[in-house]
Amino acid sequence: MIMVFSIVYLGLLFLPGFCRGQNFGYDGDQGPANWSKEYHTCIGKHQSPINIDEHNVTNVSLPPLKLIGIDNPHQSYVTNTGHTVTLKINESKAVMLSGGPLRDTYVFEQLHFHWGENDFEGSEDLINNHSFPMEMHAVFYKEDYNSFKEALNYSDGLAILACLYEVSSQPNPTYESIVKVLPEIEKKDMGKVLQEPLLLESIFVPDIAKMQDYFTYSGSLTTPPCLEVAKWIDFKDHQQLSHDQLAAFRDIRNWEGNKLTHNFRPVQPLEGREVLHNIPSSHNSNGHSGQRSVKIPILFVALGALVAIFLFNI
Ligand SMILES: [Zn+2]
Repeated sequence: MIMVFSIVYLGLLFLPGFCRGQNFGYDGDQGPANWSKEYHTCIGKHQSPINIDEHNVTNVSLPPLKLIGIDNPHQSYVTNTGHTVTLKINESKAVMLSGGPLRDTYVFEQLHFHWGENDFEGSEDLINNHSFPMEMHAVFYKEDYNSFKEALNYSDGLAILACLYEVSSQPNPTYESIVKVLPEIEKKDMGKVLQEPLLLESIFVPDIAKMQDYFTYSGSLTTPPCLEVAKWIDFKDHQQLSHDQLAAFRDIRNWEGNKLTHNFRPVQPLEGREVLHNIPSSHNSNGHSGQRSVKIPILFVALGALVAIFLFNI
Protein backbone atom coordinates (compact mmCIF):
# COMPACT_ATOMS: atom_id res chain seq x y z
CA MET A 1 0.00 0.00 0.00
CA ILE A 2 2.73 2.40 1.08
CA MET A 3 4.78 1.45 -1.97
CA VAL A 4 1.88 2.05 -4.39
CA PHE A 5 1.22 5.41 -2.76
CA SER A 6 4.91 6.34 -3.02
CA ILE A 7 5.10 5.42 -6.71
CA VAL A 8 1.92 7.38 -7.52
CA TYR A 9 3.18 10.32 -5.52
CA LEU A 10 6.65 10.35 -7.10
CA GLY A 11 4.94 10.19 -10.50
CA LEU A 12 2.99 13.32 -9.58
CA LEU A 13 6.21 15.11 -8.71
CA PHE A 14 7.31 14.93 -12.32
CA LEU A 15 4.17 16.49 -13.74
CA PRO A 16 5.02 19.85 -15.37
CA GLY A 17 3.14 21.83 -12.74
CA PHE A 18 5.47 20.62 -10.03
CA CYS A 19 8.59 21.57 -11.98
CA ARG A 20 7.72 25.23 -12.33
CA GLY A 21 8.89 27.91 -9.95
CA GLN A 22 12.13 26.27 -8.83
CA ASN A 23 14.38 29.28 -9.47
CA PHE A 24 13.72 31.23 -6.34
CA GLY A 25 15.28 31.38 -2.93
CA TYR A 26 15.32 33.50 0.20
CA ASP A 27 18.74 35.21 -0.12
CA GLY A 28 20.66 37.47 -2.50
CA ASP A 29 19.83 37.47 -6.21
CA GLN A 30 17.20 34.80 -5.76
CA GLY A 31 15.71 36.42 -2.66
CA PRO A 32 12.19 37.86 -2.29
CA ALA A 33 13.28 41.38 -3.33
CA ASN A 34 14.22 39.98 -6.77
CA TRP A 35 11.36 37.52 -7.34
CA SER A 36 9.47 40.02 -9.48
CA LYS A 37 12.28 40.08 -12.09
CA GLU A 38 11.28 36.60 -13.20
CA TYR A 39 7.74 36.49 -11.81
CA HIS A 40 5.98 39.75 -12.68
CA THR A 41 2.90 38.74 -10.70
CA CYS A 42 4.94 39.10 -7.49
CA ILE A 43 4.34 42.84 -7.81
CA GLY A 44 0.69 43.28 -6.97
CA LYS A 45 -1.62 45.21 -4.72
CA HIS A 46 -2.95 42.19 -2.82
CA GLN A 47 0.22 40.34 -1.87
CA SER A 48 0.90 38.12 1.13
CA PRO A 49 2.12 37.90 3.81
CA ILE A 50 1.01 40.98 5.75
CA ASN A 51 1.34 42.46 9.20
CA ILE A 52 -1.99 42.11 11.00
CA ASP A 53 -2.43 45.09 13.29
CA GLU A 54 -4.99 43.96 15.86
CA HIS A 55 -5.98 47.58 16.45
CA ASN A 56 -6.81 48.00 12.77
CA VAL A 57 -9.15 45.09 12.04
CA THR A 58 -12.91 44.99 11.50
CA ASN A 59 -14.74 42.75 13.94
CA VAL A 60 -17.33 40.55 12.23
CA SER A 61 -19.46 37.51 13.03
CA LEU A 62 -19.30 35.20 10.02
CA PRO A 63 -21.12 31.85 9.57
CA PRO A 64 -19.28 28.95 11.26
CA LEU A 65 -16.08 27.79 9.59
CA LYS A 66 -16.37 24.05 8.87
CA LEU A 67 -13.65 21.44 8.41
CA ILE A 68 -14.92 18.06 7.18
CA GLY A 69 -12.95 14.81 7.38
CA ILE A 70 -10.22 15.96 9.76
CA ASP A 71 -11.23 13.51 12.50
CA ASN A 72 -10.31 10.47 10.35
CA PRO A 73 -6.69 9.26 10.40
CA HIS A 74 -5.06 9.70 6.97
CA GLN A 75 -1.99 8.05 5.58
CA SER A 76 0.36 10.98 4.98
CA TYR A 77 3.36 11.64 2.81
CA VAL A 78 6.01 14.23 3.68
CA THR A 79 8.26 15.72 0.97
CA ASN A 80 11.20 18.11 0.80
CA THR A 81 10.33 20.38 -2.16
CA GLY A 82 13.59 22.33 -1.93
CA HIS A 83 11.59 25.32 -0.65
CA THR A 84 9.68 23.78 2.25
CA VAL A 85 8.41 20.56 3.82
CA THR A 86 5.03 19.56 2.38
CA LEU A 87 2.53 17.06 3.76
CA LYS A 88 -0.13 15.43 1.57
CA ILE A 89 -2.74 12.79 2.26
CA ASN A 90 -3.51 9.88 -0.06
CA GLU A 91 -7.25 10.42 -0.41
CA SER A 92 -8.50 13.14 -2.71
CA LYS A 93 -11.54 15.10 -1.54
CA ALA A 94 -11.26 13.51 1.91
CA VAL A 95 -10.83 16.82 3.71
CA MET A 96 -12.96 19.86 2.92
CA LEU A 97 -13.22 23.44 4.16
CA SER A 98 -16.30 25.69 3.94
CA GLY A 99 -18.16 28.44 5.81
CA GLY A 100 -16.62 31.47 7.47
CA PRO A 101 -15.61 33.97 4.76
CA LEU A 102 -15.91 31.30 2.02
CA ARG A 103 -18.86 31.14 -0.36
CA ASP A 104 -18.05 27.64 -1.60
CA THR A 105 -16.44 24.35 -0.62
CA TYR A 106 -12.66 23.92 -0.82
CA VAL A 107 -10.68 20.67 -1.06
CA PHE A 108 -7.48 20.02 0.90
CA GLU A 109 -4.38 19.96 -1.33
CA GLN A 110 -1.38 20.05 1.02
CA LEU A 111 0.08 21.70 4.10
CA HIS A 112 3.59 23.07 4.47
CA PHE A 113 5.74 25.11 6.82
CA HIS A 114 7.71 28.39 6.89
CA TRP A 115 10.48 28.90 9.46
CA GLY A 116 13.44 31.12 10.39
CA GLU A 117 17.10 30.89 11.34
CA ASN A 118 16.31 31.17 15.05
CA ASP A 119 13.37 30.95 17.45
CA PHE A 120 12.60 34.68 17.10
CA GLU A 121 11.57 34.78 13.45
CA GLY A 122 10.16 32.53 10.77
CA SER A 123 6.45 33.25 10.43
CA GLU A 124 5.26 35.01 7.27
CA ASP A 125 2.30 36.94 8.63
CA LEU A 126 3.14 39.12 11.61
CA ILE A 127 0.75 40.01 14.44
CA ASN A 128 1.26 43.59 15.66
CA ASN A 129 4.69 43.43 13.96
CA HIS A 130 5.59 40.39 16.08
CA SER A 131 7.22 37.44 14.32
CA PHE A 132 6.76 33.80 15.38
CA PRO A 133 9.32 30.98 14.89
CA MET A 134 7.14 29.01 12.47
CA GLU A 135 3.95 29.14 10.44
CA MET A 136 1.92 26.35 8.85
CA HIS A 137 -0.16 26.85 5.69
CA ALA A 138 -2.91 24.36 4.83
CA VAL A 139 -3.83 24.95 1.19
CA PHE A 140 -7.34 24.16 -0.15
CA TYR A 141 -8.61 24.65 -3.72
CA LYS A 142 -12.19 25.43 -4.74
CA GLU A 143 -14.03 22.18 -5.44
CA ASP A 144 -15.74 23.61 -8.57
CA TYR A 145 -12.34 24.08 -10.24
CA ASN A 146 -11.53 20.35 -9.85
CA SER A 147 -7.79 20.74 -9.26
CA PHE A 148 -5.26 22.93 -7.49
CA LYS A 149 -3.64 23.82 -10.81
CA GLU A 150 -6.93 24.91 -12.41
CA ALA A 151 -7.92 26.88 -9.30
CA LEU A 152 -4.82 29.09 -9.69
CA ASN A 153 -6.57 30.76 -12.65
CA TYR A 154 -9.32 32.27 -10.46
CA SER A 155 -9.31 35.01 -7.83
CA ASP A 156 -11.36 32.77 -5.50
CA GLY A 157 -9.32 29.66 -6.35
CA LEU A 158 -7.69 28.97 -2.98
CA ALA A 159 -8.42 29.13 0.73
CA ILE A 160 -5.40 28.89 3.03
CA LEU A 161 -5.52 28.18 6.75
CA ALA A 162 -2.54 29.64 8.60
CA CYS A 163 -1.35 28.66 12.05
CA LEU A 164 1.43 30.32 14.06
CA TYR A 165 3.74 28.48 16.45
CA GLU A 166 5.42 29.54 19.67
CA VAL A 167 8.50 27.94 21.20
CA SER A 168 7.81 25.77 24.22
CA SER A 169 9.94 23.82 26.68
CA GLN A 170 8.22 20.51 25.88
CA PRO A 171 8.07 18.84 22.46
CA ASN A 172 4.59 18.76 20.88
CA PRO A 173 3.71 15.05 20.44
CA THR A 174 1.43 15.79 17.45
CA TYR A 175 4.45 16.84 15.38
CA GLU A 176 6.86 14.10 16.47
CA SER A 177 6.04 11.81 13.52
CA ILE A 178 6.80 14.65 11.05
CA VAL A 179 9.94 15.85 12.85
CA LYS A 180 11.25 12.27 13.05
CA VAL A 181 11.31 11.83 9.26
CA LEU A 182 12.99 15.18 8.50
CA PRO A 183 16.55 13.74 8.60
CA GLU A 184 15.39 11.12 6.08
CA ILE A 185 14.17 13.74 3.58
CA GLU A 186 17.15 16.07 3.92
CA LYS A 187 17.63 16.46 0.16
CA LYS A 188 15.19 18.01 -2.33
CA ASP A 189 12.51 15.67 -3.72
CA MET A 190 13.06 13.11 -0.99
CA GLY A 191 9.81 11.92 0.55
CA LYS A 192 8.61 9.57 3.23
CA VAL A 193 5.28 8.03 4.22
CA LEU A 194 4.60 8.67 7.91
CA GLN A 195 4.59 5.45 9.94
CA GLU A 196 1.31 6.24 11.68
CA PRO A 197 -1.81 7.63 9.97
CA LEU A 198 -2.17 11.31 10.85
CA LEU A 199 -5.16 13.00 12.44
CA LEU A 200 -5.34 16.38 10.68
CA GLU A 201 -7.64 17.69 13.40
CA SER A 202 -4.74 17.71 15.85
CA ILE A 203 -2.71 19.85 13.44
CA PHE A 204 -5.44 22.18 12.13
CA VAL A 205 -7.50 22.78 15.26
CA PRO A 206 -6.00 21.19 18.40
CA ASP A 207 -8.47 23.28 20.43
CA ILE A 208 -11.79 23.11 18.58
CA ALA A 209 -13.29 25.72 20.95
CA LYS A 210 -10.96 28.34 19.44
CA MET A 211 -11.52 27.44 15.79
CA GLN A 212 -13.91 30.34 15.08
CA ASP A 213 -11.47 32.96 16.37
CA TYR A 214 -9.46 34.03 13.33
CA PHE A 215 -8.34 36.87 11.06
CA THR A 216 -9.23 36.75 7.37
CA TYR A 217 -8.18 38.77 4.34
CA SER A 218 -7.64 38.45 0.57
CA GLY A 219 -4.08 37.86 -0.58
CA SER A 220 -1.65 35.84 -2.62
CA LEU A 221 0.61 32.81 -2.64
CA THR A 222 3.72 33.75 -0.63
CA THR A 223 6.04 32.04 -3.14
CA PRO A 224 6.45 32.73 -6.86
CA PRO A 225 4.40 33.24 -8.94
CA CYS A 226 2.68 35.04 -6.00
CA LEU A 227 -0.76 34.74 -7.64
CA GLU A 228 -3.50 36.79 -5.93
CA VAL A 229 -5.95 33.92 -5.63
CA ALA A 230 -6.16 33.18 -1.91
CA LYS A 231 -8.57 33.85 0.92
CA TRP A 232 -6.39 33.70 4.03
CA ILE A 233 -7.77 32.45 7.34
CA ASP A 234 -5.25 32.94 10.18
CA PHE A 235 -6.19 31.20 13.41
CA LYS A 236 -5.71 33.42 16.43
CA ASP A 237 -4.85 30.46 18.65
CA HIS A 238 -1.15 29.50 18.54
CA GLN A 239 0.41 26.06 18.75
CA GLN A 240 3.65 25.09 20.50
CA LEU A 241 6.81 23.40 19.29
CA SER A 242 10.04 22.83 21.23
CA HIS A 243 13.33 24.42 20.16
CA ASP A 244 14.62 21.02 18.97
CA GLN A 245 11.49 20.41 16.88
CA LEU A 246 11.85 23.83 15.23
CA ALA A 247 15.61 23.35 14.70
CA ALA A 248 15.02 20.03 12.86
CA PHE A 249 13.37 21.94 10.00
CA ARG A 250 16.46 24.16 9.57
CA ASP A 251 18.55 21.12 8.60
CA ILE A 252 16.49 20.53 5.45
CA ARG A 253 18.50 21.19 2.25
CA ASN A 254 17.20 23.55 -0.40
CA TRP A 255 17.09 22.99 -4.17
CA GLU A 256 20.73 24.11 -4.42
CA GLY A 257 21.87 21.66 -1.73
CA ASN A 258 22.42 24.29 0.99
CA LYS A 259 20.69 24.27 4.37
CA LEU A 260 17.26 25.88 4.12
CA THR A 261 17.71 27.84 7.34
CA HIS A 262 14.82 30.21 6.57
CA ASN A 263 11.98 30.32 4.05
CA PHE A 264 9.71 33.22 4.93
CA ARG A 265 8.79 36.12 2.66
CA PRO A 266 8.81 39.61 4.27
CA VAL A 267 5.44 41.30 4.81
CA GLN A 268 3.87 43.15 1.90
CA PRO A 269 1.92 46.47 1.88
CA LEU A 270 -1.75 46.17 2.86
CA GLU A 271 -2.73 48.67 0.11
CA GLY A 272 -6.09 49.51 1.65
CA ARG A 273 -7.20 45.94 2.18
CA GLU A 274 -9.52 45.25 5.07
CA VAL A 275 -8.53 42.56 7.59
CA LEU A 276 -11.53 40.98 9.31
CA HIS A 277 -11.47 39.49 12.79
CA ASN A 278 -14.17 36.89 13.29
CA ILE A 279 -15.55 37.00 16.79
CA PRO A 280 -16.72 33.49 17.75
CA SER A 281 -20.52 33.48 17.95
CA SER A 282 -20.41 31.36 21.14
CA HIS A 283 -19.27 34.55 22.90
CA ASN A 284 -22.41 36.28 21.66
CA SER A 285 -24.72 33.39 22.52
CA ASN A 286 -23.24 33.23 26.02
CA GLY A 287 -24.23 36.84 26.41
CA HIS A 288 -27.73 36.15 25.09
CA SER A 289 -28.22 33.07 27.26
CA GLY A 290 -27.34 35.24 30.28
CA GLN A 291 -30.16 37.61 29.34
CA ARG A 292 -32.54 34.72 28.64
CA SER A 293 -31.99 33.24 32.09
CA VAL A 294 -33.25 36.52 33.57
CA LYS A 295 -36.09 37.06 31.10
CA ILE A 296 -37.66 33.60 31.41
CA PRO A 297 -38.36 33.68 35.20
CA ILE A 298 -39.82 37.19 34.87
CA LEU A 299 -42.11 35.87 32.13
CA PHE A 300 -43.21 32.99 34.36
CA VAL A 301 -43.88 35.30 37.31
CA ALA A 302 -45.90 37.68 35.11
CA LEU A 303 -47.86 34.79 33.63
CA GLY A 304 -48.50 33.33 37.08
CA ALA A 305 -49.71 36.72 38.33
CA LEU A 306 -52.08 37.06 35.38
CA VAL A 307 -53.50 33.57 35.96
CA ALA A 308 -53.92 34.35 39.70
CA ILE A 309 -55.74 37.61 38.94
CA PHE A 310 -57.95 35.83 36.42
CA LEU A 311 -58.78 33.02 38.88
CA PHE A 312 -59.33 35.50 41.78
CA ASN A 313 -61.72 37.58 39.69
CA ILE A 314 -63.75 34.49 38.85
ZN1 LIG B 1 3.16 28.91 2.57
